[in-house]
Amino acid sequence: MKNTLLIKGAEVITASDESKADVLVRDGKIAEIADKIAPTFGAETIDAKGLELYPGGVDVHTHFALPFMGTVSADDFETGTRAAACGGTTAIIDFVIPSKGGSTLDALAEWRKKAEGKAVVDYGFHMALVEFNDKVAAEIPKLVQEGLTSFKCFLAYKGAFMVDDLQFLGVLSAAKKHGALVSIHAENGDMLVYLMNQLLAEGKTGPEYHPVAHPALAEGEATHRGIRLAEMAGAPLYIVHLSCNESLKEVKAARCRGQRVYAETCPQYLLLDESLYRKNGFEAAKWVMSPPLREKAGQEKLWKGLRDGFLQTVATDHCSFDFKKQKVMGKEAFTKIPNGIPAVGDRMNLLYTYGVKQGRLSRTQFAAVTSTNPARLFGLYPHKGTISVGADADLVLYDPKKKGTVSVKTSKHNVDYSAFEGFKLEGLPVLTLSRGEIVAKDGEFVGKKARGRYIKRARFETHED
Ligand SMILES: [Zn+2]
Repeated sequence: MKNTLLIKGAEVITASDESKADVLVRDGKIAEIADKIAPTFGAETIDAKGLELYPGGVDVHTHFALPFMGTVSADDFETGTRAAACGGTTAIIDFVIPSKGGSTLDALAEWRKKAEGKAVVDYGFHMALVEFNDKVAAEIPKLVQEGLTSFKCFLAYKGAFMVDDLQFLGVLSAAKKHGALVSIHAENGDMLVYLMNQLLAEGKTGPEYHPVAHPALAEGEATHRGIRLAEMAGAPLYIVHLSCNESLKEVKAARCRGQRVYAETCPQYLLLDESLYRKNGFEAAKWVMSPPLREKAGQEKLWKGLRDGFLQTVATDHCSFDFKKQKVMGKEAFTKIPNGIPAVGDRMNLLYTYGVKQGRLSRTQFAAVTSTNPARLFGLYPHKGTISVGADADLVLYDPKKKGTVSVKTSKHNVDYSAFEGFKLEGLPVLTLSRGEIVAKDGEFVGKKARGRYIKRARFETHED
């Protein structure tokens, strides 16, 4: 009975239900959920009275070991997934970003190699498509066969990852044909280049100009365009890292028309604001990311968007760069600051405290936006993303009374700062289980090395032929 674990007396909370129950875990899966389960001989029993059991977090937007802007993001699949586990997240989906002209299948193999032997929780991949042509179209069904069932296009990063509208339409219709979901980075790449050139020509090179070069207008425009292009292709669309009301309005309008448009926001857009760019000179580089942090006034609209179901998921866009060694690469010009922040280990805890505890989200909504919805949209459900008999025992046990503070001193991220330094937390995970194994206890990693597995994900919908 070595592989049996009994969690007794927790409040079991999923996206649809809350009830007090015992949960029996056997051989990595949930074997039974009932009012009372008698302890079996040899089973490890966890007294979870007063604690809340949620489906393990699913973060569908991370960038571990990503070569980007002349450097490589600081967290690799080991440190990144360890931080995830300690913060209650038990599955991540990272992005393969192939080079132009290269094979996407080779790129997938390369990314799988980066994760194998390192990741400690289960992981999947999205494929960024930085161009569209016959070769890419022919690779799409092969990628879907490999369990890679979602693609991403950048409407920004002109001259690097950006695709034009015609290429994007090609991706949408090819992905639709094979039952895959397409997501977009929605900022108008030409608008950004125009603004960047103007600012640099005026000698405005500091990090405080990064948000000026990435206005909400450019995000709203690209969101609108992406949605209309998806409408024309008759394809579903997922908007990553939605940061402001300009784009939320577009998502709302599309969903009210009945279009299948889904959107993700991130803890940074819910909790941090653009005033950080005006503090302490170059220190502002810590929060240089795209889209940038927005006005404080917009944050409650994003929370409401989550509550009302217009936004379905909260992911992190975790892409960490060391301040002293990497962010400084942009000392001369904000356009050279590696974009991104560390957040994968903070997401669940921030959402719990500032969502559930502060009354912005119910507990079931917390389970939905951090786990169930992303698992459903990206083909992990029902193995992951819920607590039901037969599902993987990917679980997180929260102590709603336990207090803490976010700090670089206790953070498991492999960087020299925390983007959320000083944020008070109330409610912390005391136990994280991945496929029935205890991988984190009281915020410390206790699992085995390299135990994470590649997840072959299901398609978004059955393909048409
Ligand atoms: Zn990203």
